[in-house]
Amino acid sequence: MALVNYKEIFSYAKEHRLTIGAFNSVNMETLQAVASAADQMNVPLIIQTYHAHVDYAGADYMQAIADAASKRLNTKLAMGLDHGRSFEQAKLCIDNRYSGVMIDLASEDYDYNVRETRRVVELAHARGISVEAELGTISDADRTLEEIAAGYTDPKVARDFVADTGIDCLAVSIGTAHGIYKYQPKINFELLGELLETVPCPIVVHGGSNTPDEEVEEMVRMGIAKLNVGTDFFRAYNQAIYDFQKEFGTDAEITDLMRAAREAVEKVALHKLSILSKFRR
Ligand SMILES: [Zn+2]
Repeated sequence: MALVNYKEIFSYAKEHRLTIGAFNSVNMETLQAVASAADQMNVPLIIQTYHAHVDYAGADYMQAIADAASKRLNTKLAMGLDHGRSFEQAKLCIDNRYSGVMIDLASEDYDYNVRETRRVVELAHARGISVEAELGTISDADRTLEEIAAGYTDPKVARDFVADTGIDCLAVSIGTAHGIYKYQPKINFELLGELLETVPCPIVVHGGSNTPDEEVEEMVRMGIAKLNVGTDFFRAYNQAIYDFQKEFGTDAEITDLMRAAREAVEKVALHKLSILSKFRR
């Protein structure tokens, strides 16, 4: 199967009452790990590359690996840019045949965010590619709960933003944050409920790493369409390499080292997917 866009994945997810994992990868091993987990669970998956990881690995390389995975595996896979920083970066990924791109100009003023997001939507939709944008501020996880809450997405503004831009899904700020939490995250479920009712497109939650499983499960039950996870995979990858080196040193087979890292990521991905597909029908 070729890579599919988010629209196709979201309609499958709605029918089967799934939340789609949007799992970040940075190289072949991490990509193979998350794709294989989705295949084993028989659920669609959005594979993503974070904007800085696109700079690191190259959109062409990452797309080629994702494309190979989609041909080899039986489940629906999409390939997306995570937190695209500009129209130019989104275009780079569109030109390299990603099937979805995120343009994140949430920190810019509203009109600029609308204008640039629309430019990306026009280009992407002409090629059958999906677009995600963000409204509100999804903080880094080392911020206080008050700082995180100050960035909450306003449901009415979000409704207008979706209408003004024509995006396919919207990343919202409801209390999750990126990276490793300094404080236990506090998710505003009431606001999430309001957003799910008000916003006329699928809702995306970022900062899915080390958010407690019960809180993720509640968001899934309520009907979020997509949960982004990155940090948990990269920590597992780093830990596996650290443990392997400590035990076997640098003369070990490199494939054994990489396999250990890949398996560690796959294990985390399987666990996350089991929560995201808890209410599957
Ligand atoms: Zn994010």
